Amino acid sequence: MEEMYDAYGPEKVIEVYNPKVGMRGYVVIDNRSLGPGKGGIRMTPTVSMEEVFRLARTMTWKNSIADLPFGGAKGGIIADPKQLTPKKKAEIVKAYGEAMKIVCPDLWVAAPDISTAEEEMRIFANAVGSNKACTGKPKDMGGLPHELGSTGFGVYHSALVALKHIGLDIKKITFAVEGFGNVGWFVSKFLTEAGAKLVGVSDSKGLIYNEKGIDFKKLAEIKKKEGTVVKYPGKVLKDSEIVSLKVDMLVTAAIPDLIKPNDVDSIKTKLIVCGSNIAMSHETEESLYRHKVLVVPDFVANAGGVISSYVEYIGGDEKKMWKMVEEKITKNTKLVLKNSEKKKISPRTAAMDIAVERVLKKCKTCKI
Ligand code: NAD
Repeated sequence: MEEMYDAYGPEKVIEVYNPKVGMRGYVVIDNRSLGPGKGGIRMTPTVSMEEVFRLARTMTWKNSIADLPFGGAKGGIIADPKQLTPKKKAEIVKAYGEAMKIVCPDLWVAAPDISTAEEEMRIFANAVGSNKACTGKPKDMGGLPHELGSTGFGVYHSALVALKHIGLDIKKITFAVEGFGNVGWFVSKFLTEAGAKLVGVSDSKGLIYNEKGIDFKKLAEIKKKEGTVVKYPGKVLKDSEIVSLKVDMLVTAAIPDLIKPNDVDSIKTKLIVCGSNIAMSHETEESLYRHKVLVVPDFVANAGGVISSYVEYIGGDEKKMWKMVEEKITKNTKLVLKNSEKKKISPRTAAMDIAVERVLKKCKTCKI
């Protein structure tokens, strides 16, 4: 527990308990230098205070690099959703929301995370008694649905900046996308619409490779009908082989640790844009930097979702969301790549330096 406490926070660690309902949970508000702590509510049987703290700290840096007026926070409810009836789950979320009135929405703005989604956000906001209690709410409460594809749209804009940075023309490049879920789908759509040639796409069933180019609309139809991308005409390879494809750009959009330390020598791409979280360890990222492969870090490229949350928080509509995601992701990616080049440090180190500097500049409680 002691290692939780350092120069930046956490500012508040609260545990709540309601024995009558059987609700136990926490919230960790890590740092509010930039605004109220923002972070989702995770419901798992094993969620611990340390886990919630680590996630809250990640949110401090993620919101800072996204250039949002939000600090870092995270909530956790100790419960096994598989063992709960919908009624019981709703009761627990309601009791948790009522208990969180002491900090929410003034010091903490919640969001969905594992096993909490739109309906849980409705219950939580009603229990707190404020529409500002959380984002990720249903549309009828002003929510901006995840299905709009804000994260994929942001990853696309981050890729545009990175391609320009290394002197590649979007209309002349080949690329591959790992995963064809929410992020992978939209990033493939926007990149192919901009003229890039998609040659490889993977999902949990494998990797489809077609050097003539994969038509996005046809691929989307096949995925909907057959449930997998591997039914698209082309060569079917193992999902992990996406790492060593000869493409100009690889976009990650599925599992953690896709790229292993010993993959570094076999990587043939010049650019990796991380749509997924933790596609590789920080050490692997540094090693790729030394091997002259440009890696746009996850918390820079995939911040479209949190930016969209901010638009929901201020009551903005879809139009405002697209505009803000494009502007912020473009500006932040440019700044990170510029600093990386200027200071001869990896993009991740450059991004962390910016995120920490923004927090420290406004922090009244940090020990500098
Ligand atoms: P999703 O569940 O919609 O899609 C995941 C996709 O990954 C599916 O197509 C699945 O078939 C595929 N997949 C599973 N195992 C695979 C494997 N071994 N190889 C290749 N593909 C595999 O998830 P998502 O929302 O698109 O999120 C993808 C990643 O992006 C996750 O790391 C997530 O944390 C991160 N992310 C998502 C968002 C968001 O708003 N959706 C925001 C930030 C980060």
